[in-house]
Amino acid sequence: MTSDQLVAVPETALPTLRGAVTGLPSYVPGRRSAGADIAALASNESHYEPLPAAVAAVAHAAGTMNRYPDSAAVELRERIARHLGVTAGEIAVGPGSVGVLQQIITGLCDAGDEVIFAWRSFEAYPILVELAGARPVPLPLDDAEGHDLDAMAAAVTDRTKVILLCTPNNPTGVPIGHERIEAFLQAVPSSVLVVIDEAYVEYADAGSGPDSLALYRRYPNVCILRTFSKAYGLAGLRVGYAIATQAIAEGLHRTALPFAVSALAQKAAIASLDAGEEMAARVAAVKLERARIAAELEAHGWTLQPSQGNFLWIRANEQLLATLVDAFNTAGIMVRAYQGDGVRITVADPASNNRVLRLLATHTA
Ligand SMILES: *Cc1c(COP(=O)(O)O)cnc(C)c1O
Repeated sequence: MTSDQLVAVPETALPTLRGAVTGLPSYVPGRRSAGADIAALASNESHYEPLPAAVAAVAHAAGTMNRYPDSAAVELRERIARHLGVTAGEIAVGPGSVGVLQQIITGLCDAGDEVIFAWRSFEAYPILVELAGARPVPLPLDDAEGHDLDAMAAAVTDRTKVILLCTPNNPTGVPIGHERIEAFLQAVPSSVLVVIDEAYVEYADAGSGPDSLALYRRYPNVCILRTFSKAYGLAGLRVGYAIATQAIAEGLHRTALPFAVSALAQKAAIASLDAGEEMAARVAAVKLERARIAAELEAHGWTLQPSQGNFLWIRANEQLLATLVDAFNTAGIMVRAYQGDGVRITVADPASNNRVLRLLATHTA
C-alpha cells in the first residue's frame, strides 16, 4: 500500500466534532472587494486607511517578528489605562474584542451556565457561548430596536453568569441610556458579570449611551469591552480590550491564548491612541455622513431608528430583504443581510454612501 492510500476505517470509528461545534453555522467567507467598483459596506470597517502613525509603528516593529510579543502587553495596557484613567491591572487585551469576549465566557462559564444577550445583536455572541458549552439566552429587542432590559433582568437564573449589553447595538445602532443601565445593574445580582460591549462607542453622540466608566467604578460586576477594529481602523491587526476589576482582568489573562496579540498590533494600538485627535476628526466626518444619508433616506420614505454606530439599519421582511440583497449585489455594494430581520449598511466615504442612496431611492419600504 502506498502512503497516499486511505486506510479503510468505518465512518463511526473516525474522530468526531463536538455537537456544539457541528451545530454552529458554517463559515461563509465574506466576498472580498475585488475592484475599485465594489463598495465594501458589510463589516463596519473604517473606510479610511490606517492612521499614518499606526502604519509607521508597524513598519518599525516588523523587523522584530522573529521574537514573541510581550504576552502581558505591559506597554499597551499602561497606555490604555492612562487614556481611561484606570490602572493597567484593570485592563486585559486580546485578539480583537471578540477574542477578549471568548476569554470572558470561557473564564466565567461552566458547561450549562447561561449567558443572556439581546437578539438581534452581534452574531459572535451565540457562537462563543455555544463553543464554551454554555447556554445562550437570547431575548428579543423591543419595538424600538433596543435592548429590553426588563425582560433581560427577568431572565436571570442561578445559572446566569454573564449578561452582554451591546451599545450602540450592532446591527440596529440603538444605544442603551445611562439611567436604564444603572437601574438594570441595581436589578441584577452582583454575582453576574454585566459586559458592556462598546465596539462603536467613538461614533456615539455624547450622552446617547452610558458613561460606562462611571458605571464600572460604582458596580464592580461591570466589564467594558472596546476595540481598535472600528473607529481606530485596525480591524486587520486584531486587538481589543476589557476594562474590569483586577481579579477579573487577571482571570482573563489566564484564559488567553498565549501571545494572541502580536507585537505589531500592540505597537499600532499605542500609536493609534497617541493619534486620537486624527481619529476623532475621521469619526466626525463619518457622523456627518451618517446624518446626511439618514435624512435623505427618510425623505425617500424609509423609516430608520437613529443610529449611533457607523452603520444604518433597515428592517425588512423576507420579500423586501430579497429584493434589496439582489439590488445591492447587482450594484456591487456589499452590505450585511440578516435573514428575517433586515440589512445593515456601513457608513463610509461620500461617494459610496451616494451609491447606497441612489439604490435605495429607487425602492420603497
Ligand atoms: C465589530 C464588533 C466587535 C469587535 O470585533 P473585533 O474586531 O474582534 O474587536 C465587538 N462587538 C461588536 C458588537 C462588534 O460589532
